[in-house]
Amino acid sequence: MRDVRGLFTHLFTAVLLAWIAAAPLTVHAWGAEGHRIVCTIAEDRLDDRGRSFLASVMAESAELDGEINSKWAASFAEACVWADDAKFDGYRGSYEQHFVNVPKAADSLQVSRDCPALNCLLTAIQRNLTHLSVEPSGRRERARRVAALRFLGHLVGDMHQPLHVSHAEDWGGNRIRVKFFGKDSNLHRIWDVDPPKRMGLSHRNPPGPRDVAMSGVLTWADQSLALARHSAYRVGDREIGIGDAVGKTYQRQIEPIIEQRLVEAGFRLAWLINQAAAGQPVRFLKAAND
Ligand SMILES: [Zn+2]
Repeated sequence: MRDVRGLFTHLFTAVLLAWIAAAPLTVHAWGAEGHRIVCTIAEDRLDDRGRSFLASVMAESAELDGEINSKWAASFAEACVWADDAKFDGYRGSYEQHFVNVPKAADSLQVSRDCPALNCLLTAIQRNLTHLSVEPSGRRERARRVAALRFLGHLVGDMHQPLHVSHAEDWGGNRIRVKFFGKDSNLHRIWDVDPPKRMGLSHRNPPGPRDVAMSGVLTWADQSLALARHSAYRVGDREIGIGDAVGKTYQRQIEPIIEQRLVEAGFRLAWLINQAAAGQPVRFLKAAND
């Protein structure tokens, strides 16, 4: 009996250690508050048609959730956090839609090379925008439209986080463990989960408006890749290695970019929702240069 109990203890420890080792894999998103900020900014920029469209899709949340008044139905800000939950539960096939990996030698995105299974951030934005724009003809399609709104809100946010368009080798900076102001962290976390609190931002206190060019999804991805290369993986002109210590210089370098990207994501998301509301989704990927 004791042996069996000992075996279970070992098994439990092994499972726990495996889970801890795998944990960085799960950190693939702006923290929840980053997503709330993006969607709050977007909601504020909707035109009248976009605003009533958003309200009508949100009002059908129960079609997806199977219950009324779920936490995701409380506000658009909360709806935009759902996709990080759904990728582990019910929508496991969407896990890879939260990022796109690019070879280290490439300077820009190519759909055929970087998204060969057509199941990455680029194609997911296009797919959900299309689903959102189609008038549903039954309950199943109404539920799909609710999911499409939640995915779109979330993924446009992820697209603007530079380390979601980066390198497979380091898991988007998750594996580059560093000391940040003396504390254990990693590059992904420094850009992603921690910024709102560190920068005094929240969905109740979002960053203010600025000039944002709308362009298109491939441009947003190329911008994120360039920012990852020049500003996330480097401090000044030095590449950051595992075990390095970074602090004030890195913080000063990245925080204006993080703020800019949150605002750009919000403005561009509003632009997309307004177009979906008008039944005229943008066809991004036809502009692909490959
Ligand atoms: Zn995500």
